[in-house]
Parts: sequence; structure tokens; C-alpha cells
Amino acid sequence: MRVPPLRLIEHAIAHLRAQAGRDHALPISLLIVNVDRFKLVNDLCGHAAGDRLIEHIRDRCARSSRNLQVIHIGADEFACLLPVTAFDSGEGDRIADRIAERLLEAVGDPVSLGRHIVHPTASIGIATDRFGTLSPEELLRGASIALSHAKQAGGGTVQRFCPAMFADLSDRATLEDDLRGGLLRGELLPYYQPIVSLGSRKIARFEALVRWHHPHRGLLGPDQFLTIAEEAGLDDDLLFSMVRQACRNAGEWEGRLGLSINMTPRQVCDPTVALRLLRIVFASGMRPDRFTVEITEDAMMHNVVAAQETVSTLREAGIRIALDDFGTGYTSLSRICQLPLDMIKIDRSLIQSLDTDAGRKLVKVVVDLGQSLSMPVTAEGIETPRQARLLNEIGCTFGQGYLFGRAAPASLAARLAGAAPLAIAS
Ligand code: C2E
Ligand code: CA
Ligand code: CA
Repeated sequence: MRVPPLRLIEHAIAHLRAQAGRDHALPISLLIVNVDRFKLVNDLCGHAAGDRLIEHIRDRCARSSRNLQVIHIGADEFACLLPVTAFDSGEGDRIADRIAERLLEAVGDPVSLGRHIVHPTASIGIATDRFGTLSPEELLRGASIALSHAKQAGGGTVQRFCPAMFADLSDRATLEDDLRGGLLRGELLPYYQPIVSLGSRKIARFEALVRWHHPHRGLLGPDQFLTIAEEAGLDDDLLFSMVRQACRNAGEWEGRLGLSINMTPRQVCDPTVALRLLRIVFASGMRPDRFTVEITEDAMMHNVVAAQETVSTLREAGIRIALDDFGTGYTSLSRICQLPLDMIKIDRSLIQSLDTDAGRKLVKVVVDLGQSLSMPVTAEGIETPRQARLLNEIGCTFGQGYLFGRAAPASLAARLAGAAPLAIAS
């Protein structure tokens, strides 16, 4: 039976106190190390390889400092206890920070797992009990909150607990409540960003991007609430509300323009979500071939088997699949050839590199690959006429970005849908 993390940590702290000959009041830092994207390693390389990676990381943590006691507390998580003596001067915090940085470095060395070489990263949350007055539970809670902040920062980082994080937590709780109500009150709306044909500058489709008209906080973008929606289990309600509204709005567009919608990685791995989405699209009367689901590379790779089931369900019904944010994740060019896709969207970061020779070559390789596979390529984040011109010359079919228009409310999208090609100097 698995021992709960708190019990393991309590036991280890009691042991350290006994070693130090103290009943209590042992200043201590707790570092929680969580391996980023561990599930991906399990899926790509197999569970035995995943276990080997965890063993490697445990060794590396243990070797990074003599004073560190390393405990495996979860599939991809370690608790590292660090008794420190020089707390009064603040030196204790610095020691914990330094050790955390050393841990990140140690974890990051490449590991060979059969045919794969992985470059692991980890997130670390630190909580320090300066005076030995906190309970193990309080210490663990602080380190876990700090770890969530490190994860939210995108992984590969260290965060030390500070009391302001409690305020953040309560702010989050309020926002979660607001979101629940906001979904029912219809405050979450699709805005539409045009995707244009780079040759003709005509709008080919709109991507629906969620916006929240919050009654007190104003207009919020997805970065401010999407994670909360996922953690609160509200992401499916959000998706279905978006699909319902977007299908209704798209019914008013002239020329039967296409409509793209985004799915979260978790939704891609749950084949029932695709079935419910299909029901909404069919009920709306919209032709499925106008509808594209955008799936990021990481979502595709997260659970390959489940993602393929979702993709097959959608494609068999006539819905198209676009690989979103290409160039930011793990997918190799050769892997793209094996994925059942209809379109590729090149991430904004690659488009920004168009100014360099190497960047242009890279984008051209993706565009050529798309052409050879009969998959139109869309470039995201086009902000300058020069980028649009270069991409058109390279042979990229579609473009999206502030140059052509930002995400706009449904009424404006409906007007744009009937308008002449976007007149933009090149
Ligand atoms: P994404 O799917 O890659 O969408 C493109 C994002 O880039 C949008 O940000 C868009 O406003 C922004 N963008 C477009 N052109 C430019 C440009 O020229 N320059 C710059 N700097 N940015 C540009 P937004 O709307 O904040 O959405 C961020 C991400 O949130 C989206 O990235 C998507 O992953 C996610 N998202 C948005 N709406 C939804 C939704 O309804 N459901 C789900 N699951 N995810 C959504
Ligand atoms: Ca997208
Ligand atoms: Ca994208």
C-alpha cells in the first residue's frame, strides 16, 4: 500500500530531529521536486523507461548535496529535506535556493532510455521553517503551493513559498466561483480572429478564442482563467459553450467560411469529449467540413493512443484537424508524416525568426513538408507586411496575426465575413 506523502515526511523529520538530538525546533527546508511532463516519457518510451528515469533522478538529487534527505513521495515527485543551521542571517534560504538550482541542473542532464535520449526538467517548490515551529503538514502545504507556482511558470523553475501565495490562492478560489457563475450567465464568449489566404488576402476561416466579460475585472483573456477552468473541471462546459455559440455565429457568415476551435490536452485524451462535441455540431446544422479542431503537438503526444481515437472520431465525421503551435513541442518533422492531420499551424515563435536566414530555412522546410503531404500550412502571429510577403513567397497558404486582425466580437466577425479582401500594404 502506498504511504501518504505527509506520513513519509513526518517520519523523515522525526528521524532528523532525533539525529540532531532535538525534540522539536529543528529549522528545516523542504524542497518538493516534480519531474515535468513525466507522463510524456512514459507514453513515448514505456513505463520501464519511466521508472529508470525516476531512479536516475533520485540518484542525482541524493548526490547533489550531502545534507539532503531524498524521499520518493509520488510517481514523479520527491521530497528533499534539508536541515539548516544558519537561519538567522537569512543564509538558510540562500542555501536552499542554491541547492534547488543545483538540483535543477543535476536533473537536466540528458538520460539515455533505450532508443530515446530525454532531457528531463523539473519544477521545485521550497518552504522553509526558520524556527522549527511549523508542523510537517504546514511545511508540505507551503512547498506544494510554491510548486504549483513553479509549474504555472511553465516548469524548469524554482519557487520559494511566501505568504502572498495564500492571497493568490484565495483570489483563485474567488475567480473559480465567478467562472462557474459566469458560464451560466453567458459571460464567456468566442471572439474571432481571421485566418486569411496569403495570396488573395481573403478570409478563409475564423479561429474562435475565448474571452470572459467579467462583471468587475473587465475583459479577460484565456491566460487568466483557462488553467482555473481545467483545475475546477469546468473546461468541458467551456468547450461545449464555445462550440454552441460559435456554430450559431458561423451560421451568419457569408460564404460559409471555416471555423476553428481549440481543445485542451486533457480533452484530446478523453474520446467522449469528441463525441459530445460532434453532437453539438450536428445539432447546429453546420456542415462538419467547415469545422476544424486545433490540437497542439504536446496534446497529440500526451497520450498518443487516446489522442488518435479522438482524431479518428472527429475526422470520420468530416471534421478537420490542425496541428497547433507547431515548433514548440516534441513532434519531429518525420512524426508529422505519421499523424492523421489536415493542417499545420506554425507557431508565432518560428514566424518571429523569419528575419534570420536559419529561421527562414526552417519555416520553408515545414511549408514544403506540408505541401508534400497536401496539408495546407498556416503561419501564426504575423505582425508585419514583410513577414506576410516572405511567407507567401515561401509558399505558405494561410496567415493569421495582428496584421490581419485581432480576435474580435461576433458582430465584427460577421461584418468581416462579408467584406472585401483585407487591404494591407505588402
Ligand atoms: P492559440 O490557439 O495559439 O491562439 C493564438 C493566440 O495568439 C491568441 O491568443 C491570439 O490572440 C494570439 N495572437 C494572434 N495573432 C497574434 C500576433 O500577431 N501577435 C501576438 N503577439 N499574438 C497573436 P489568446 O486569445 O490569448 O489565446 C491564447 C491561447 O489560449 C490560445 O493559443 C489557445 O491555446 C488558448 N485558447 C484560447 N481560446 C481557447 C478556447 O476557447 N479553448 C481552449 N481550450 N483554449 C483556448
Ligand atoms: Ca489555436
Ligand atoms: Ca497556436
